[in-house]
Amino acid sequence: MIDAIQLISIAILGSGLVYCFLLLGQNFSSNRLAVARESAELQHLNALTGELIERQRVKKEIEEGAWNGFRKFRVSKKQIEAKDQCSFYLTPHDGRPVPPFAPGQFLTFRLDIPDQKKPVIRCYSLSDCSRPDHYRVTIKRVPPPRDTDYPPGLSSNFFHDSIEEGQILDVRAPGGHFFLDTTRSTPVVLIGGGIGLTPVLSMVNHIVETGSKRETWFFYGVQNGEDHAMKEHLQKIDEEHENINICVVYSRPRDGEDVEGRDYKYKGRVGADLFREVLPSNNYDYYFCGPPPMMNSLFEGLREWDVPEDNIHYEAFGPATVSKKKDADKATEKAPTSVSDAAEKIVVNFAKAGKEVAWDPDVGSLLDLAEDNDISIDSGCRAGNCGTCETAIKSGDVDYLSDPGEMPDAGSCLACVAVPKGPITLDA
Ligand SMILES: Cc1cc2nc3c(=O)[nH]c(=O)nc-3n(C[C@H](O)[C@H](O)[C@H](O)COP(=O)(O)OP(=O)(O)OC[C@H]3O[C@@H](n4cnc5c(N)ncnc54)[C@H](O)[C@@H]3O)c2cc1C
Repeated sequence: MIDAIQLISIAILGSGLVYCFLLLGQNFSSNRLAVARESAELQHLNALTGELIERQRVKKEIEEGAWNGFRKFRVSKKQIEAKDQCSFYLTPHDGRPVPPFAPGQFLTFRLDIPDQKKPVIRCYSLSDCSRPDHYRVTIKRVPPPRDTDYPPGLSSNFFHDSIEEGQILDVRAPGGHFFLDTTRSTPVVLIGGGIGLTPVLSMVNHIVETGSKRETWFFYGVQNGEDHAMKEHLQKIDEEHENINICVVYSRPRDGEDVEGRDYKYKGRVGADLFREVLPSNNYDYYFCGPPPMMNSLFEGLREWDVPEDNIHYEAFGPATVSKKKDADKATEKAPTSVSDAAEKIVVNFAKAGKEVAWDPDVGSLLDLAEDNDISIDSGCRAGNCGTCETAIKSGDVDYLSDPGEMPDAGSCLACVAVPKGPITLDA
């Protein structure tokens, strides 16, 4: 017979054992959780290390292939893509290999245009991904602004009217900081407005050519079918690649000619309102290039939709307000005493011109300040890459609105993206 004391002892022992088992179980599962967490962290670290190594490899490959100064390329093919848009295929004249580049980068051209006192320098984005034997750029003819007597765009019209197959052009190596991070496979939204298509076309072509399964949304905004470049190419990508969604948007489709669902997917404008409707979430990296109004509204719209600034990447062709404003804000944050607080006291001395001018941060860059005051500084890309505006600094120092593609020599600055840190004397 089991007496009461034995019964109580058994109960205590039993519950102790149960408690121990529970504790062991809990420990076991929390250990398993900790192990799982550690292995996930390890995997994440491995992936990050892999990305870093790959990024270094790609960077090295691009740097090794780059050439200094200008190299001669032959125009091997000229092809009309849409109204006033023409592609130029470029093959190295020396027969040596074509170095790779990052999708989104551009080439800088030096053109000898008749009746111009000096060579004209212009940048054009590479509109295809890296190919072993040629580069391709796509150029839009730029008309004069409405109701003015200004001459039409110098370089773009020269390309359209005077550059033919077989001609030789001087080209600098691919450059620029606006490119797709190809070491990652996170989802992306690529957006091109008008001729701003070119760098993002290079990006989507890269995704296609590498067989990447990266989720990709590609928005291309034009007025109507007349401006719609690369139509068949983009349709083919849409049909053949499940991970890539091509969304062509017409703002003013032509009656009776442009058919929704056949020629374009959406009527309206490319912007955050459309993304909210179409995209499953806001959780993407966004890359965009287009006319200034589109870029401004895209940037603001994405920020309002809580897209972190780090996920927004863009490039403006030429001096666009969005880049200047945002970058000027950045520079102000970086050096509050030198740029904004002390702005009234900063004097820029243009030594050769013999002019002293008060610095105004709203003007943009030192090049803009010089031009506003009829002081001549040669310029090309106006994006800190071609080096044409390199100007010696006699005294003082500068900050940069955006990082130059290549740092100028010590004691010089790239005036198109430079702002003064304090009183400064330039050799201009
Ligand atoms: C990084 C980068 C990438 C680019 N990629 C591409 C690309 O892929 N494709 C592309 O087509 N473009 C691209 N561009 C733009 C390109 O570099 C040129 O800016 C564009 O072709 C216009 O150059 P242009 O010489 O034809 O015109 P410009 O001669 O520079 O003239 C520009 C405008 O100013 C007007 N103008 C002329 N004289 C005056 C005056 N005195 N006062 C006021 N206005 C005047 C002209 O009529 C014209 O409307 C890119 C630019 C950059 C910075």
